[in-house]
Amino acid sequence: MSLSNNDTTTTQNGLPDRTKPSPPLSQPSSYHPSTTAIHADDDLNPTIPDIAPPIHISSTFRYSSDPTALIPAKDSSTNPIPTDAHIYSRLTTPTTTRAELLLHPLLHSPAVCYSSGLAGLHALYCFLNPRRIAITGGYHGSHGVVNLHRKLTGATILPLDCPAHDIGEGDVVHLETPINPTGEALNIALHAAKAHARGAILVVDSTFGPPGLQDPFVQGADVVMHSGTKYLGGHSDLLWGVLATNKPGWVEGLRAERTYLGNVMGGLEAWLGVRSLRTLEIRVRRQSDNAVQLVEWLDGELQNDPNGVVSSAVGKVVAQVKHASLQTQDMHWLRPQMPGGFGPVFALMLKTEQMARHFPSNLQLFHHATSLGGVESLVEWRAMSDTTVDTRLLRISVGIEHFEDLRDDLANGFRAVAEEH
Ligand SMILES: *Cc1c(COP(=O)(O)O)cnc(C)c1O
Repeated sequence: MSLSNNDTTTTQNGLPDRTKPSPPLSQPSSYHPSTTAIHADDDLNPTIPDIAPPIHISSTFRYSSDPTALIPAKDSSTNPIPTDAHIYSRLTTPTTTRAELLLHPLLHSPAVCYSSGLAGLHALYCFLNPRRIAITGGYHGSHGVVNLHRKLTGATILPLDCPAHDIGEGDVVHLETPINPTGEALNIALHAAKAHARGAILVVDSTFGPPGLQDPFVQGADVVMHSGTKYLGGHSDLLWGVLATNKPGWVEGLRAERTYLGNVMGGLEAWLGVRSLRTLEIRVRRQSDNAVQLVEWLDGELQNDPNGVVSSAVGKVVAQVKHASLQTQDMHWLRPQMPGGFGPVFALMLKTEQMARHFPSNLQLFHHATSLGGVESLVEWRAMSDTTVDTRLLRISVGIEHFEDLRDDLANGFRAVAEEH
């Protein structure tokens, strides 16, 4: 099956035929995302019978054996990116190109891949070179990148809720939503309006709200960033960054600068990434549904304490549950912003630091580790990796296990910690 009517430009032996033009990337398609994720790259399949894509590891690629087909660099345009005529792997490779081809319809904008989420963010700040960046809390590593940009350029860092007149043309409003580590959501449309009224650019780190849950472009994002390491990858086995943007010329500019930053995604990682995108939609929906059910259960346990008398083990250990699904006062903008679900990460504020330190060791199914987005559920005493966070906070990344098993595991953990303390 083919999503476009382009002939594949391969020779009979399956090798690229550089005498024919490359098929253009990123055919818009009317298929559902779950279909697109399986078929948007069908045009890249060479005339060999493999169903799974080949693994390409070459760092360099043979030029055409036909001297008349050789185009010197000074005469060749850099765009559109070639789907078959690869030159050197710091520019493009077959499998990273395949990943970008799949991401375009999933993210509803052309996308560029990087070696990690933060590598992509750094590339974005190099490209935009803003004089001011408005940002709040969220992933601590993103602040590390913003601080690097400040070191190199002298840029000013402002609070996200700064007065609109503090930002201007070409500045960046950096919005992470849902936000690390609590999984609570911020209003994209509100920040888009503020940024655009001042000629500033809205960058949305949508890592906690992967495709299937939200599309920040609908609410006005100019650039959407993902740490593909998390949900796009989904199996805790690769680093991956993605930038997508609908601004004319920006993807081409990012791709051109990536050649000199050299922060490209490796071919083997791209192969894992492509394999992961096939199942993105069903993974994320199951993870988000599981999280909403767990949050509902935990919140119910806290609400049901009659007259403030702490009866359940949850009530003895947990002070507060934090998650977008609990933002009942925000549903008028939040439901349209996250039509597919409220995200698979939530946080628990325990009653004491000691409880938060001990709780992860009392679980069987949730691994105690940082990161998120994988098929396996994780819990993290967040103080282990974030120096700025409340030491009573646990971050939970919900996997695709069965809800009741996850609930029972947490319940056993709460009972054990309640008895210990
Ligand atoms: C993990 C993460 C990043 C950084 O991504 P890496 O792939 O680890 O570089 C950025 N933002 C958020 C919200 C993240 O969770």
